[in-house]
Amino acid sequence: MTDKQRPPEVDRVAASRRAVAARRERAALKHDVGMRVITPQELLRRAQENPDSPAAAMRITEYLTALPAIGESKRDRILADLGISPVKRLGGLGARQRAVLAEWLDERFPQPAARSGRSRLVVLAGPTAVGKGTVAAHIRAHHPEILLSVSATTRAPRPGEVEGEHYYFVDDTEFDRLIASGELLEHATVHNKFRYGTPKAPIDRALAEGRTVLLEIDLQGARQVRAAAPDATLVFLLPPSWDELVQRLVGRGTEDAEERARRLRTAKHELASQSEFDYRVVNDEVARAAAEVAALAR
Ligand code: 5GP
Repeated sequence: MTDKQRPPEVDRVAASRRAVAARRERAALKHDVGMRVITPQELLRRAQENPDSPAAAMRITEYLTALPAIGESKRDRILADLGISPVKRLGGLGARQRAVLAEWLDERFPQPAARSGRSRLVVLAGPTAVGKGTVAAHIRAHHPEILLSVSATTRAPRPGEVEGEHYYFVDDTEFDRLIASGELLEHATVHNKFRYGTPKAPIDRALAEGRTVLLEIDLQGARQVRAAAPDATLVFLLPPSWDELVQRLVGRGTEDAEERARRLRTAKHELASQSEFDYRVVNDEVARAAAEVAALAR
């Protein structure tokens, strides 16, 4: 190339900056799928929806190896089976290729169909730091028709927390008594520290009156509710992306490196449980997510 044909320096710098940004966006998306913050189907959908998106620019090879439990040899076998060339990008798949890929995805990563006949007992759970408490508080403030269950806990009240409104603050002896007398629908030790439990009587009363009840509890509690009341409606709150969850988790900078690593491992583990839930709601914006949960609850 002569100097005349070469693009000006500024253009090349801008182009290389754009390429770096695009690569970074693709890396974030791959992380989201690997951490199960978004489903493989969702990523494919984004690629189809917008041909200029980072999802569309992703090579089919990088896409497949980003999926949970798919390595390079498995990937090559899958591509051969599906008849898709490894040089393809997600946005460049033909209609037939998209169809066979979608069918394979649904078989390999089944999406729980929203179950019908769910009851008005609604459980809101999700990974550490996703913002369950904030969404629940928004529902308490804006949806008086929904009863937000008040848990018992052995932890001390924080400034501003009101007995009987945010929690029933009890000691270990009283918590033991609540368990022994069968007064709790579920209970768990959260973060290896304090005990939390859902009093049963107010829930039974509200349900009998035809009201909707919302429980904002941890994953262990959600599983116990599922076992005790199989028709309960289980809602899983998701972060908009893995990076965003990491920000929310470590952003405050109050935990040391070991504690941060522990929380991230816990979050990854928790995200892997979302298929046990009936619905998934993305907490991209508190008011919107709260409205979606409230609508499910109705
Ligand atoms: P916090 O102490 O920050 O208010 O709550 C800590 C965690 O305990 C949150 O993840 C919350 O969802 C969970 N939690 C609150 N109440 C209950 C409950 O009654 N049962 C269970 N299993 N978890 C709860």
